[in-house]
Amino acid sequence: MQTDHVLRVPLREEATFKKTTIKTITRTNIISGWRNDYINLRIIFSIIKIARECYKDPVDVLSGLKYLIILRKKFVGDFKLRKTVQVDGKYYRYLYGPGWRSNTFKKFMISQLNDFKPVKQDTYRFNNVIMAITKKCSLQCDHCFEWDSLNKKENLSTAKLIEIVQKLQGQGVSEIQFSGGEPMLKVERIIEILNSANKKETTFWIDTSGFKFTEDNARRLKEAGLTGVFVSLDHFDPELHNKFRGFKDAFSWAETAVRNALEQDFVVSLSICITREFATRENLIGYMEMAREMGVAFVQFLEPKAVGHFAGKDVLLHPEHLEIVEEIYTELNFSSKYLSYPIITYHGYYQRRHGCFSGGYKGFYIDTDGDINPCPFCQKKSGNLLDGDLEANLRSLKNAGCIDYTRFS
Ligand code: SF4
Repeated sequence: MQTDHVLRVPLREEATFKKTTIKTITRTNIISGWRNDYINLRIIFSIIKIARECYKDPVDVLSGLKYLIILRKKFVGDFKLRKTVQVDGKYYRYLYGPGWRSNTFKKFMISQLNDFKPVKQDTYRFNNVIMAITKKCSLQCDHCFEWDSLNKKENLSTAKLIEIVQKLQGQGVSEIQFSGGEPMLKVERIIEILNSANKKETTFWIDTSGFKFTEDNARRLKEAGLTGVFVSLDHFDPELHNKFRGFKDAFSWAETAVRNALEQDFVVSLSICITREFATRENLIGYMEMAREMGVAFVQFLEPKAVGHFAGKDVLLHPEHLEIVEEIYTELNFSSKYLSYPIITYHGYYQRRHGCFSGGYKGFYIDTDGDINPCPFCQKKSGNLLDGDLEANLRSLKNAGCIDYTRFS
C-alpha cells in the first residue's frame, strides 16, 4: 500500500525548526531503490531456506512463511518498507530484530516459526529484555521512569548482574539492552558483563543519554562486543532538550555520543519521548531532518506514560496527537519520498492494534533491584530474577499483563 497520497507539504518547506549544527563524519548507509529490493529478496530467500530446514512437510513450510508475513504486517501494517540499513556487514530493516547475515538472525527467525509450529532447533524464548544496571544518573529528565530509585544505594553488584545475564542467556534471549540510571556511569561494569557474556547468542545494546560516551569508551565497548546504541534525544532545539533532561550539556552529550557511536560502526538509534507539546507535524518533521543529518540508522518514537517522574501527571497523548504521530510514522517510513531518512520504530502503533509484545510474553524489564516488570513504563514487580522460582515469577508476570494494552494477538 502506498502512502504518498497522504503527503501534504514538501518536507523541506515544512521544516521551519531551529537548526542545529550537527556535523557527523560517519553516517549509516541507508539503502533504497533496486539495492533495497535486491537485499530484501536475499533476506526472503534465506528465510525460506530457514523454514525448509525447520519443517519437512512443504505445507508447514508454506504455512510458516504465511505466518511470518502476517506477523510482519501486525508490526508495520500493510506497507512496503523501501529502505534497509547496513551496519558492520549486517543488514537491518527493523530495530528490534537481529541483522541479517548473522547467527542471531537465523535463530530469531527459527524462534518466530516455533511460535507457529514447534521446531526441533534451538530457539530464543524472549526477543528483548531491558536490564537496568545502575541507579546512578546525573540528569533529571521530566519523563524518567526510574525516578523513584534514582541515585539510591545500589543493590546489584557486577557479579550479580553477570549472573542475571547468564540466567537470561540460559533462557534464550535474542537482545539485551542495558539501561539505568545512566549505564555509561558504569562503563567498566558493562565491559565486564560483555566480556563474560556469549555475544554469538545474544546481541547487546545500551540506552544512554550520551553522558560519557566518549571516543575511548565507544571503542572499548565495540571491542567488548556491543552491537547497538540508543541515544535519548528529545528535541532538535538544544535548549529545549537540555530543559527536558535537566542539564545544560545534555544535547551536546547526545550529539557527541551519536558521532562516536557511528564512528565505531554501532547500529545507532535516536530515542524520543514525544510529549503533547512536541506532537505537531512541524516538530516531528524537524526532528527527522535532524536525525537524517546526524546519520543515524533508526529513530524510536516513545509516548509519555504517567510513571516515575511523570507519575500522577496528565501526560498521555490524546487521539489528535496520536493521529499526527502515526501519520509521520507511515509517511516517513513507507513513502518513496523519504528514502534517505532513518527508519522509525513506533511501539504504540502496533500495540494499539495488536496488543503488547512484552510483559513476559516476548520480553520484559529487569529493574535496578533485579526485579521483573512487564516493561520499563509498566512497573508491576513479579518477583526477582535471581531469587525464587523463575517460571512461577514469569507466570505471574504474564497473568498480571500489560496495564495499557492487551497481550499481543
Ligand atoms: S531518564 Fe535516564 S537519563 Fe533521564 S534521569 Fe532517568 S535514568 Fe537518568
